[in-house]
Formats: sequence, C-alpha cells, structure tokens
Amino acid sequence: MSEITDGDMAISDLKAREKSIQEVSQSLVEHNAGLAIPSSQHWSFLTQVHGFENIEVKENESVLGLEGDALFTTQEKKVLTIQVADCVPLALTSDCGAIAVIHAGWKGLLNGVIENASEALQKKFPGDQSAVIGPHIGPCCYEYGRKDLDSFIEIFGASVAGVTDASADSLDLMAIVRVVLKERGIELSYRDDSCTSCDSKFWSYRSSGTQKRQSLVAWVEKN
Ligand SMILES: [Zn+2]
Repeated sequence: MSEITDGDMAISDLKAREKSIQEVSQSLVEHNAGLAIPSSQHWSFLTQVHGFENIEVKENESVLGLEGDALFTTQEKKVLTIQVADCVPLALTSDCGAIAVIHAGWKGLLNGVIENASEALQKKFPGDQSAVIGPHIGPCCYEYGRKDLDSFIEIFGASVAGVTDASADSLDLMAIVRVVLKERGIELSYRDDSCTSCDSKFWSYRSSGTQKRQSLVAWVEKN
C-alpha cells in the first residue's frame, strides 16, 4: 500500500500516470527493504466508477484506464492497482495462485463489487480465497445520515452502524466488508486498521476534498 510520502497515484492523464507510477514504485522500493516491483509497463489501473465490473489482466497485457472497479489475474508479475482516499482497497488471493484487487466504497459495496470479483475469480481460477484490506475511512470519521444508514442496516445488518468521535451516526465500511466476506466464505488474512481521515500518512477525500490518491498494489510471485 502506498502512502502520501510515496506520491500521488490519482493522475488520469496517461503520460502523467507513467511518471507517477515510476515515482511511487521507486519510493515503495526505497521504503520496503527487499521489495522488487515489476517495471511500470506491467502496471494496470482502472478508471474507477463505483460500479461492479471486473477486468482480467491477461498474458502480455496491461489495463490502462478501462472503466471498472476490480482487476484480476493469474499472470506472474502483473501489477494490479486500486486508487483510494477513504474507500476500502481490498485484495483477494486464491490458493490456486490468482489475485484480484477491488475498489469498495459505499456505492460499490451496494453494487456487490466484492461478490462479483470473488465470483469471477472463482469461476476462472477455482480455489479457496482470502482477503487483505488496506487503510480506509473508519466509523470514527465517516458521519452518515440516519435515513441512509438505516438502508445499509436493512441490507447488511446492525453491525454496520457506527458512531463518530463526535458521537454522530456513522457508517462502518469494514463491518460491511466483513459481512460480505463471511457470506462468501472468504477468510480475512490481514487488515490495516488505519483510518485515512485520522491518520496523516494517508489522503482522505472526506476530510480535505483532495483529488490525490494512495494505491493498493498487488502482484503474483511464483516460486
Ligand atoms: Zn477516523
């Protein structure tokens, strides 16, 4: 997972994106001893639209800005990325060696973005799946109107209702993710519980309206 110090991954212009990927990639290598990241021509990214489409990255291909909210592959050293600043960045790994990365905000969660990606991964590359969750906005900071919150409770259950630090109603995105993972029998293998709004290491759209984004990066390494 990249942080603010690694650089902005939100640039939509392709040429700027290339530079941005190189900078973030170099910074990640500097900050993570022993990390060998595949070069920028092997990176894939989406134009994320809070929908539920998933796209497979095939051999000798990269996805450069197609619309969608999840990527998956079984190809080695193909870097899959998801850009976020509050939404939940999620990676699924399958014991058959495939991975998926998913962009899950409230809209995507309502649209079944995790279920859809998990299903696509399972169909093409059957195996037991587990999930890795990156930093996202916590219930401490994600104030939500009661009426909207109630519609989430109706779908996902009472656990999704949170309370902010200022004692207002809030939506607990991670609680929704947990419900979905449980329904699909996906084990949660790792979670970074940093709140993007509380923690100054991360960009938060909700707290500052920023257009900048940190990135979840994942790739398959075969032994
Ligand atoms: Zn917070």
